Amino acid sequence: MDSIAIIGTGIAGLVAARQCQLQGIHTVLFEKSKHVGGRLSSHRSSWARFDQGAQYFTARSPEFQEQLQLWQHTGHAQVWDFQAHRFRQGQLNPSPDTETRYVGTPCMNSLAEALAEDLSIHYHCHIAQISYETAADDEQQGEWWLYDRKGQQYGGFDALLLALPSAQCQALIDARSPLQKALQTVAMVPCWSLAVAFNEAIADASIQGIFCDHPIVQWISRESAKPGRLQSHDCWIIHCRPEWSEQQKDQPQSVIQATLLQALAEILSIALPTASHYYCHFWRYARPAHSQCFKQALVDPQQRLGVCGDWQQGGRVEGAYLSAMQTSQALLQCGAIGSSM
Ligand SMILES: Cc1cc2nc3c(=O)[nH]c(=O)nc-3n(C[C@H](O)[C@H](O)[C@H](O)COP(=O)(O)OP(=O)(O)OC[C@H]3O[C@@H](n4cnc5c(N)ncnc54)[C@H](O)[C@@H]3O)c2cc1C
Repeated sequence: MDSIAIIGTGIAGLVAARQCQLQGIHTVLFEKSKHVGGRLSSHRSSWARFDQGAQYFTARSPEFQEQLQLWQHTGHAQVWDFQAHRFRQGQLNPSPDTETRYVGTPCMNSLAEALAEDLSIHYHCHIAQISYETAADDEQQGEWWLYDRKGQQYGGFDALLLALPSAQCQALIDARSPLQKALQTVAMVPCWSLAVAFNEAIADASIQGIFCDHPIVQWISRESAKPGRLQSHDCWIIHCRPEWSEQQKDQPQSVIQATLLQALAEILSIALPTASHYYCHFWRYARPAHSQCFKQALVDPQQRLGVCGDWQQGGRVEGAYLSAMQTSQALLQCGAIGSSM
């Protein structure tokens, strides 16, 4: 039976895995963390579960709208109908727009958990090296072998798909691979994020999501305002600008926390009460620096190797989905895998 290994269980890896499994291909996923979702992650702590990465998603393409309908049907996604605000020139004002935004329910990670059902996943498995190995007498029929950080090996797979941020794909793939040229054109930028909770509501209920023209902060959301959340606290998420995050990447969390609380007080124009809980996280590869869309899937048919991720289709949750569909289809169509079907 034809087989494929997929590294990464963000939305891109999971969507590609479902496509391959649908074609009857033996599909195995490898994930360095203890759960699926990647940047769609929702942090679970003793005091709350909150969206630490992607805050909401949009669905502009017919393909992704189909997936959205499935999630809505199974209760894994809902519209987040909030009144957007904008902080500009020291003023916080409503900023109506026509965009329809959705969230996973009860948290963003529910989208990934739904996609992961019935898939075969190795968790806590950080792939450190990949190797395409051919027999001396048949260079056409190689196999992929994967090695994790503990020295465990997995293989041999007929095909390999890397569903990772571009820099992480680059680090794993051979420097001579034809895919390197495209990967080198994509830079990814970081993001400091802070979740902070208060025992009581700190602002008017109409303030739910704020786009910020601010030197440090890019976005603020009120977790408790999203549909389907069970929250005992007034929990806020703050995401920082990429330039500031890069400059401050080596700061201790306590400094980031203090700076962001000050910024929250400034933007809401209030004196903040003492917070009851905090959680700070640095996203090394949060988003592509520029929104670019590759016209063709990034696949090397000779070695049956593909790379995908949000960076390939303009960033965002929808971009990750589209890139996974495009790349898995290209792997299947070029006869790389599934040729015996
Ligand atoms: C702070 C922040 C806010 C965002 N806000 C939004 C938003 O509001 N709306 C929106 O649409 N998008 C948003 N995004 C972007 C969105 O989260 C991503 O576009 C999308 O989730 C990317 O999915 P992916 O599958 O391409 O990659 P990822 O989710 O990054 O998946 C990659 C996976 O690979 C794993 N991995 C990495 N290296 C290895 C290895 N060597 N071995 C094994 N496993 C490995 C990782 O643990 C991860 O699970 C945001 C992102 C961040 C960080």
